[in-house]
Amino acid sequence: KKQLLEENKPLKIGILGGTFDPIHYAHLATAEFIRDKYKIDKILFIPTGNPPHKLGIKTDKYDRYNMVLLATRSNDNFITLDLEVERHKSTYTVDTLKDLKKIYPKAELYFITGADAICEVETWKDVEDNFRLATFIAATRPGISLLKAQEKIEQLEKRYGTKIISVYVPSLDISSTYIREQLEDGKTVKYLIPEEVDLYLKENNLYRMEHGDEI
Ligand code: ATP
Ligand code: MG
Repeated sequence: KKQLLEENKPLKIGILGGTFDPIHYAHLATAEFIRDKYKIDKILFIPTGNPPHKLGIKTDKYDRYNMVLLATRSNDNFITLDLEVERHKSTYTVDTLKDLKKIYPKAELYFITGADAICEVETWKDVEDNFRLATFIAATRPGISLLKAQEKIEQLEKRYGTKIISVYVPSLDISSTYIREQLEDGKTVKYLIPEEVDLYLKENNLYRMEHGDEI
């Protein structure tokens, strides 16, 4: 069993939220790279419950959570939390950050996003509070224009009087959407997701084309 965080230490805590449908190596590599670069003590992986903006999501939240748990198990600096999965209503980042602030009052919180997510951050609930509760770190992501992301970041910094850390992360052009498509087509996802996750989704018949879906 992994050592949990000591609640009263002045820790630097990174947070990676996502639907993780399913988790893939770009999530893990991005989190690890940022943890190391900014000397963050622990990265919390927090799979969403029922995200208000991703209504099309079919995968059971506990399956998404279990896959994150499997994928993060071998890294002592990664912790998977069921905070959002166990919430019954829609889950919002701002509520999660408030909860974490209560649990770890002395910690500095760093919220990690990819370049696509930072561009949409203004559609999230209580934008200003998010920036007040955590320092945002925006990672580069293949397919997302650096220039566009940078412009957006500068705009956000001015508008909300915040500082957003923008970081170049060695690129991995992987998305959960791509993984799902590959799996639905019966194609390989080997070396794109951890083997344990591959096994789990096969054993649980996830992302398989349902009968009748085929044309
Ligand atoms: P989907 O295609 O279903 O949207 P996704 O690959 O974008 O899945 P999410 O769970 O939506 O994964 O993303 C969680 C977080 O990880 C987001 O902040 C997202 O920007 C970031 N992220 C995902 N893939 C990458 C990647 N290849 N490089 C950098 N950041 C990434
Ligand atoms: Mg996404």
